[in-house]
Amino acid sequence: MDTLKSAVDARREDLIALTRALIRIPTLNPPGLHYLDICEALAARMEPQGWRVELIRAQGAPGDSENYPRWNVICTHDAGRPGDTVHFNSHHDVVEVGHGWTRDPFGGEYVPDEDRIYGRGACDMKGGLAASIIAAEAFVATHPDHAGRIQISATADEESGGYGGVAYLAEHGHFADVQHVIIPEPLHKDRICLGHRGVWWAEIETRGRIAHGSMPFLGDCAVRHMGAVIDEMERTLYPLLAGKQTAMPVIPDGARNSTLNINSIHGGAREPEEGYTGLPAPCVPDRCRIVIDRRFLIEEQLDEVKAEVAALMERVRAQRASFSYEIRDLFEVIPSMTDRDAPVVRTTAAAIERVLGIEAGYVVSPGTYDQKHIDRIGKLKNCIAYGPGVLNLAHQPDEWIGVRDMLDSAQVMALVLADLLVTNPDSPARPGMA
Ligand SMILES: [Zn+2]
Repeated sequence: MDTLKSAVDARREDLIALTRALIRIPTLNPPGLHYLDICEALAARMEPQGWRVELIRAQGAPGDSENYPRWNVICTHDAGRPGDTVHFNSHHDVVEVGHGWTRDPFGGEYVPDEDRIYGRGACDMKGGLAASIIAAEAFVATHPDHAGRIQISATADEESGGYGGVAYLAEHGHFADVQHVIIPEPLHKDRICLGHRGVWWAEIETRGRIAHGSMPFLGDCAVRHMGAVIDEMERTLYPLLAGKQTAMPVIPDGARNSTLNINSIHGGAREPEEGYTGLPAPCVPDRCRIVIDRRFLIEEQLDEVKAEVAALMERVRAQRASFSYEIRDLFEVIPSMTDRDAPVVRTTAAAIERVLGIEAGYVVSPGTYDQKHIDRIGKLKNCIAYGPGVLNLAHQPDEWIGVRDMLDSAQVMALVLADLLVTNPDSPARPGMA
């Protein structure tokens, strides 16, 4: 175990260089830039070391086009002995830069005094990708004849739903022979993320009838109808949701309840274009729409979640003459939570204890990530998120990753490989590891 830990630490400079190089490829999503560049950079690193490399374009997936092809890469190390496959999956896309940076977002700047690397994607999640590569390389160097297979994938579009990335790979059978998945998202080096809450996005439209604004009694105001809907949400739905608590260890604490956000509201005339100096025209709005974002718990069923809103709309209808509406589903994700006794969870918890000398924490993410596709499409429950970095820094200006955190979590990942692919390859699910 000490040999393996030192093999990781010996790669410190390489880890810094690799992380900086990955940040310097601006894989912005949207629209999906430089996906092939980052996949080829990884291929160029892994192939000469004897890894098999597959470059896979998610042809026809949402977002895939000739201008913005959705490229993914899977690198596999197989020493030719039977055993399980351990798959590290990182997304290679990053979100927009936004305002407020004091560092070059794509400079990959390393600040020695802080021992941090700055840049968009440093923490979410090129640092995690680099850590998993260093972990795997250190493991292969110390255990060249390991059992089973190690896979490292870098996949597209996690930030926009993962359909051109993990979902596509899962649909095309790339997780069929995988037994363990670790997603190195920035959940902190001492915590295991077991899964995420569920999601239902929907658009609700209220309908009225257009008329002259000076004679609103001749029309029917869709915005007033929507006001009644939102009022009913305040009076009945929000209190109901506040009372629903989950046993899932969701972080932060506020996300242990069911939540509902109203993402947007639009009704009546369009917003005038910038620079327009005229007045608006007087009309009674005949349409009003809101988009709701309902996050639900493993204790709830999606159809119950939808039924609550449908019942609410019917209560409003009963109180308002001429009220009509439509609810359109936009997006849904079932909650996912891996069992604490799953082999990858037990192995990672034991490795955290051995590297950091503390007990692993268990968390569940308030939002979703690619685990949903591995669970639902790939039919694999033995999956966690575990990686270096501070979740709150994701998508922020001056995003950074600590080098010591990357090394520590790379040690944890290397020990996980040793446990799953060396000690007893025939029985990876055994309890009581040393
Ligand atoms: Zn991420």
